[in-house]
Amino acid sequence: DQARVPDYLSGLNPEQREAVETLDGPVLVLAGAGTGKTRVLTTRIAHILATGRAFPSQILAVTFTNKAAREMKERIGLLVGGAVEGMPWLGTFHSIGVKILRRHAEMVGLRSDFTILDTDDVIRLIKQLIQAEGIDDKRWPAKQFAAMIDGWKNKGLDPSQIPEGDARAFANGKGRELYAAYQNRLKSLNACDFGDLLLHPIRMFRANPDILKDYHQRFKYILVDEYQDTNTAQYMWLRLLAQRSGRMPISPLEGEMPGRAEGGIPSNAGASAPPSVGSADISPSRGEINGLVNICCVGDDDQSIYGWRGAEVDNILRFEKDFPGAKVIKLERNYRSTEHILGAAGHLIAHNEGRLGKTLFTDRVNPDDEKVVVHAAWDSEEEARAVGEEIERLQRGDADGKKHALNDMAILVRASFQMREFEDRFVTLGLNYRVIGGPRFYERLEIRDAMAYFRLVCQPADDLAFERIVNTPKRGLGDTTIRALHDYARARDIPMLAAASDLIETDEIKPKARKALFDVIQYFRRWSELLETTPHIELAEQILEESGYTDMWKNDKSAEAPGRLENLKELIRSMEAFESMRGFLEHVSLVMDAEQNADMDAVSIMTLHSAKGLEFETVFLPGWEEGLFPHQRALDEGGRSGLEEERRLAYVGITRAKRRCHIWFVSNRRIHGLWQSTMPSRFLDELPITHVEVAESEQSYGGYGRGGYGQSRFDKADPFANSYETPGWKRAQANKSDATRDNWGTRSGHAVERIGYGESGPRGKTIDGE
Ligand code: ATP
Ligand code: MG
Repeated sequence: DQARVPDYLSGLNPEQREAVETLDGPVLVLAGAGTGKTRVLTTRIAHILATGRAFPSQILAVTFTNKAAREMKERIGLLVGGAVEGMPWLGTFHSIGVKILRRHAEMVGLRSDFTILDTDDVIRLIKQLIQAEGIDDKRWPAKQFAAMIDGWKNKGLDPSQIPEGDARAFANGKGRELYAAYQNRLKSLNACDFGDLLLHPIRMFRANPDILKDYHQRFKYILVDEYQDTNTAQYMWLRLLAQRSGRMPISPLEGEMPGRAEGGIPSNAGASAPPSVGSADISPSRGEINGLVNICCVGDDDQSIYGWRGAEVDNILRFEKDFPGAKVIKLERNYRSTEHILGAAGHLIAHNEGRLGKTLFTDRVNPDDEKVVVHAAWDSEEEARAVGEEIERLQRGDADGKKHALNDMAILVRASFQMREFEDRFVTLGLNYRVIGGPRFYERLEIRDAMAYFRLVCQPADDLAFERIVNTPKRGLGDTTIRALHDYARARDIPMLAAASDLIETDEIKPKARKALFDVIQYFRRWSELLETTPHIELAEQILEESGYTDMWKNDKSAEAPGRLENLKELIRSMEAFESMRGFLEHVSLVMDAEQNADMDAVSIMTLHSAKGLEFETVFLPGWEEGLFPHQRALDEGGRSGLEEERRLAYVGITRAKRRCHIWFVSNRRIHGLWQSTMPSRFLDELPITHVEVAESEQSYGGYGRGGYGQSRFDKADPFANSYETPGWKRAQANKSDATRDNWGTRSGHAVERIGYGESGPRGKTIDGE
C-alpha cells in the first residue's frame, strides 16, 4: 500500500531522502559543498513536524549563524505549508545557550538578568585585573590574555583544568590565578562572556542531573548543521543533551563519577566538588548505549575553517564511535554549481592531505557555462574598480543579455581590511552593498555609549557600562574619583553605582564631583523606575536627552558629529522591533548579521569565514596573493595544517558560486602604509586549467576588465605580454615548459615574501560564527 509521498520529500534524491526519513537513531550526513546537507536538515524538521512526531518546541536545531536559523525557519514553514509556531530551540549554539542559562542562572551564581559582555568589555575588565595584580599590562597585554581565556573556554576548561604550560605562559605563571579572578569578577558583575553561554550550562547540567533530565525529555530530536566546525565545548554540550539514556559514560571524568542513577545521570555529581566543566580530554566513549539518540549532524570535513578558533574536525570523524549505531550517509550530487566551478574547487582541495575524500558530481553541464576567471590588477584600488565594473556589466546585462540582480553577487575577502576599498568604491559608484557578518552599526562609539546607558538602567550592577558613561559626557569626574569608587566597590563587593551612592555621603570625594555623582545617581534611579512603566523607546530618548549625551554631540564641532547624531536616531528606531529594553539589549548582544536594509538589492561583502553555507550566482574572490591568501599568519603559526585550513577556505569560497566565479590578485598592496609587491597565491597554481581561464587585461587603469575574456594563457606564448608586470606568477608561468593541461603545476623557485598583515579572519568576534 503506497502512501502518498508528501511534496517536500518528492524533490529529494534517494540518499537525501534516507537522511530525512531515518528519524530513529543517530545519523551523520557527510558530504561536500552544495550537496543539500542544509536542505536535508530543513526537510527533516519539516518531516518530523508533518508526521506529528514532535512539537516544534521539542526540536533542538543548531545552525552556524542567526541568519541561517531565520532562513531555516522560513523554509520549514514553506515546506509544511503554513507558518511554524514556535521553534524556540532553533538557533546558534550561543543563542540556545543563553536561553538555557537565563532559565537556570541562579544555579551558576548569576541572576537571570545577567549581562553578556562583548570582546571590548572583556578586554577592559581583564586589563583592570592585570593592573590590580601589579602586572605590567604593556608586557602582558589584556588582549592576549582574553584570547587565551577564549581558547581555554573553547576547549571547555575551567581555571583548575588548564594545562600547566598554558598557565605559565602568561605573566610569569599567573595565568591560572588571573583566569580564576576573571571568573569571579564576572560573577560579581552579574555578567558572563560568550564562552560562558555554553560552559555555564555544561556545569549546570553536570551538577543538576534532574535539570538535564528535563531537557532530555524535552528534546526529542537534535539536529546540527556545519558539524565540522564545532569546538570541544560545543561538542560537550551536545553530548550532554544527546545522552538521552543508557549507561554510556560520556567522558572519562563522568565515567568515574559515583552513584550513576537510572537514566545514566550521576545522582550526586558535583555534590562534593564544585561543579566543573570536566576534562577536555574526551576519549571515545566506553560502554554501550541503551536507547538510540535521535541526533542528526551534517558537515563536510573539507569546509572546516574554524580550527584557529578551536573547532575540532575530529568531532566529525568520531561520530560513529560517539553514537553507536549511527547511520552515515554520503551525498554526492551537487545541486549548486556548474561543472567548472566544481572542477576548480575539487582540484584545489585535492592538494590537501588527510581528507576523508568525497566524490562530487553535477548534472549542471552546459556548454555556455563560464570557466572560473582569474584576473590580475595593479593594486587593490584597481582591483576594487575592476570588480565594480564587472558588477555593473552584469547588472546592465552586457555579459549575456541578462540583467543580474546585485543580491545575486558577493565579494568574499580573506581579511576584513580588504573591505574598505570595495566599500569606498561602491559608495563612489552609487552601487548598493551590504557588509555581512561583522560589527558595524552596533560597534560604533556613540552606539556603544548609548547602549551602556541602557545596560546600566536595566542592570545596575553592570560596572563596565557604568565606567564607560559615568564621565561621558564630561561631568568633571576624574580618574581619582573613579578609582575611589572602584576601590570602595571592590572592597565591599558591591556595584560601582551603589558605591557612588555611599560615597557621596562622605568626604572622600571632592564637592564638585560629589554633586556630579549625585546627579548621575538620581537620574539612574529615576530611569530604572520608569523602566517598568514607560514605553522603552520613549525612555531611551529620555535617557539620551537627560544625560546630556545627545547634547554632547550637538555641541561637538567635528565632522563626524552629525553622523553620530543620525546613528543615535537610528538606534532608537531599531528598538521599535522589540517589546522591551531588555529584549533589545539581548538582541544586540546576540546580533551577528548586519541586517541593514534587508530589502534592497545590494552586493554582499563579507569574509570567507562568514560565507559558510551561503550561495550566490556570482562570487568575486579578491586578494589571492601570497601572504594574504594563504594568510601569512596561518602559515607562520599553523605550518602545514595552517596552509590546509587556508586551502579549505579557498574551497569554501569557490563553492559559494552557482554560475560565475571571478578570482583576483594584485601586484602591489599597501600594508601598514607601505607598498609591497606581492606574489600571486599558490592556490592559483592549484586550479585546473580545464576549468579556469585568465582574463585578458587592457592596459589602461580605468578600462581594466572590459572587453570580454581572453583565451586561456596556455593558448598564448605569454598571456601577459600585453599587460603590465605581474611579478612571480607571470615569470613563473611563462617559464613553465612542463605545465600539464589539467594542472598549472607548482611554481618553481617560489619564494614567499614575508608580509605582516594586521587583520585576518572574520571581522571582530561575533557571537555565532564571526
Ligand atoms: P554547504 O556545504 O555549502 O553548506 P549544503 O550541502 O548545505 O552546502 P544546500 O545549501 O543544502 O547544500 O544545497 C545547495 C543548493 O542545492 C541549494 O540551492 C538547494 O536548494 C539545492 N538543492 C539541494 N538538494 C536539492 C534537490 N534534491 N533538488 C534540487 N535542488 C536541491
Ligand atoms: Mg549547508
